Formats: sequence, structure tokens, C-alpha cells
Amino acid sequence: MIVAIDGPAGSGKSTTAKLAAERLGFRYLDTGAMYRAIAVRALAERLDLDDEAGVTSLAQRERVLFAHEEGSALPTRVTIGAHDVTAAIRTPEADAAVSHVARLARVREAMLAQQRSIAEGRDVVVEGRDIGTVVFPQAEVKVYLTASPHERARRRTAEQAERGHAVEHEEVLESIERRDEIDSTREVAPLQAAEDAVELDSTELSVDEVVDAIEALVHSARSAAGGPR
Ligand code: C5P
Repeated sequence: MIVAIDGPAGSGKSTTAKLAAERLGFRYLDTGAMYRAIAVRALAERLDLDDEAGVTSLAQRERVLFAHEEGSALPTRVTIGAHDVTAAIRTPEADAAVSHVARLARVREAMLAQQRSIAEGRDVVVEGRDIGTVVFPQAEVKVYLTASPHERARRRTAEQAERGHAVEHEEVLESIERRDEIDSTREVAPLQAAEDAVELDSTELSVDEVVDAIEALVHSARSAAGGPR
């Protein structure tokens, strides 16, 4: 079964998708981490982020892999080719670069193929921007998660602080608004809710409440398919 969770930066996707995967015993697939890995390598190789041919060649050449310990929902490491980018993909530099490479059509094509191959034959909670619309339009459960811009900036500022990056709330707010603008107005696979997605606003909800709602959707999708609850 595929559970697709889409939404803008800081809407709570990662926290809820991870917890949902753990509770359900599914794998967690973070597609944003894959675009981040491409952005980090593109920066390291000093590619121009708008150079579609150069960044596409990188995306076609290198596989982004998630190392999981046996039976674990969450990966311990993210690698691209021979490079471990687990920490590098979470820096403000990666935040600023990622939407530029993610709007390149052929880079998205390469990532789409990798995403489908990682999820193939598994029960997975997949988070991203275009999962319910483009990557897995047949997903049994689709959630579109939102939160107010201030709440999203507050969460991202706290996350960055935990990682030791001192950032201002206003700066983070501007950075996520810039990213959302690029993500939702790009031509290929823009950020948008699938027609059949359930929209959840997490501004006033706890993580547990959001995950409870996702679990309930999984149970009803299973009963609709005649499977176990
Ligand atoms: O979810 P996260 O903030 O890590 O995503 C980073 C960026 O990757 C997004 O801002 C977006 O530009 C891109 N992305 C995408 N499609 C996805 C997942 C992420 O374009 N499915």
C-alpha cells in the first residue's frame, strides 16, 4: 500500500509521515531528501543550478539511496553515489538550492524513476510535493497537509536550531515562502493537492492527532479493499 503525504515546507509532513510509517510498520520514503541530495552534489560539483543538462546528467548517473537497519521504518543514512549527504541535505544552503534543481523537468523524470523503484512492492509512506498527483496517482491513501505560514516558519526555525543552525524566524518565513512560490508555480509537477486527497490543516493539531487521522484513512482504505483492518 502507498500512503502519499504532500504539502508545503514545514506543514508537518516529515514528522507525521515518519511516525505514521513507524506505527503502521511501513517504510518511510522522503522524496524531498532525494532532491536535496541532487542539490548538495550540484553545489559540490559547482554546477550552475539552472543548467538542466548538467544537473540532469548528475541525477541520471547517481542513485540516491536510503540505508535502513533491518525492519526499521526510518533510514539511518542518505547517500548519493559514493557520498554520504545525511547532514549536508539539512543545511540552510541546501534549503536555498533545492527548489532550483527540483523545477528541472528531466531531473524530476530521473527522480520519479528512482522513487518508483524504491517503493516497488512495498508498503510505504511517501512524502513530497507531487506524490498523490504524479509519482503515485494510484496511492490508496492521499493526504495534503497544510499549516499557517507562521506556524510552518516556527517549526522550521526550531528544527534548524536543534541542528545547531542559528536562523531568524523572519528569514525562515521568507525562505519557505520563496520555496513554496517556486514549488507551486513551476510547470512540471507543481505542489498541489490531488483531487482525491484528504486535506488536513495541522496548525492547531498535535502530531498524534494528525497521525491518528492518517491511520484511520489507512484502515478504511484496507476495509474498502476487503483486507485486514
Ligand atoms: O520536503 P522538503 O522540504 O525536504 O523538500 C525540499 C524541496 O524538494 C521542496 O521545496 C521541493 O522543491 C522539492 N521537492 C519536490 N518534489 C517532491 C519533494 C520535494 O519538488 N516530491
